[in-house]
Amino acid sequence: MGVLVSYSVRGEEPVVIEALRVRALPEGGYDHLLEFLKLYRDAVQMIVNRIWSISERLSKRKLHKLFYSNLVSMGFRAHHAKEIYIYAESLVESARGNGGRKPVLRKLSARVDRYDYRLDLDSMTLTLKLHSGYEARLKLASSSERVEKFRGWGNYELVVKYDGSGFWVSIYFKRAVKAVKPRTVMAIDLNFDNITLAVLTLDGGLLKLKRFRTPLRKVLTHRIWVERIQKRYPRSWRFIKGVRKAIDRHGEKIKNISWGYAHKVGDLVAELASKRSSIIALEDLDKLRENNKKGKRFNKRLGLWIYRRIQFCVEYEARERNLEVVKINPRSTSSKCPRCGKKLAEYRHRVLRCRKCGFVGDRDAIAAINLCKKFISKYPRCGVPGVALNAPKPDENPSGMQGNRDEAMKNIKPHKLI
Ligand SMILES: [Zn+2]
Repeated sequence: MGVLVSYSVRGEEPVVIEALRVRALPEGGYDHLLEFLKLYRDAVQMIVNRIWSISERLSKRKLHKLFYSNLVSMGFRAHHAKEIYIYAESLVESARGNGGRKPVLRKLSARVDRYDYRLDLDSMTLTLKLHSGYEARLKLASSSERVEKFRGWGNYELVVKYDGSGFWVSIYFKRAVKAVKPRTVMAIDLNFDNITLAVLTLDGGLLKLKRFRTPLRKVLTHRIWVERIQKRYPRSWRFIKGVRKAIDRHGEKIKNISWGYAHKVGDLVAELASKRSSIIALEDLDKLRENNKKGKRFNKRLGLWIYRRIQFCVEYEARERNLEVVKINPRSTSSKCPRCGKKLAEYRHRVLRCRKCGFVGDRDAIAAINLCKKFISKYPRCGVPGVALNAPKPDENPSGMQGNRDEAMKNIKPHKLI
């Protein structure tokens, strides 16, 4: 993957943003380009210094007033100037935000707005408009297959860098997402040894339950090996070649297993969601901090990174298929009865039972179903009214699950899939 930057929602229109990072070979000399990068860096530093001494946060208008004419007189174009003061401001803000010192720029890199470059994907050439009317032409060193994907996308900004040996360009592409109109909700409950997936209709009826095994026990074994080695050589493991090599080997395994798995599951889940036109509901992992459930369901030794990685891949593959993804606070999803909303009690190993209505179900399946329901009750849309968890209508089963469904849930078995 490697090229995904972010997905963002600006106003109403969701967009996918990806960066294409390639080596760029200057055609002809590159003195002016280097000069531009140095000038750019020094200008950013100058503004950082000025803003640093002002304690208030400056608006864009104020920044413009303070620095624009100065930058233009240095030879920068209008959009260069804008990029420079906005970038300087963001550097100061983030340094202040984490209590750091005044930023000092060493690297040569510049953000360039789309008004200041011309990109030709057919000939793979890039023309940059530099300071004082200069231009630089660069040949992009990338295969046409890699670029093919971005035909028809918009590009709106790029970053050009010099790393001492050559130039790099990251071009930011974006396209609008024509989101598929959801017909069902799919929720994914991540656990240490399994991933459980539930698909519900938009009015709360259960359509499908599915379970994947995870390789996290294997990952944990490698993690434990690393810890053991580090414990045995608490101070020296970094410096003894053989020890470091052993640690790297385990680290490599962890990386391969977790990425390999995340990609596979992401693809599989998104494919299923695509077939059923699902909107995908994921657990908001940031919200887990507040929930005491975390200890039970997540292995602290592994941390959340592995779940984030899986979610990242699910999200990526879903966007590729124009499916919407939402994050839902998983609070109490594994402790409430999906039928009547009362608290569930442990019944057997991994099986929960409701004392009030007698509902019995697999713990992880319940969590996934409740996640779906939380989405449905929170985001009533497409003209479908939300179904509140604890407000069953007297004449029907609000969960859409009939008695035999409970039976089916009791007997949910891990499918051998991965
Ligand atoms: Zn109940």
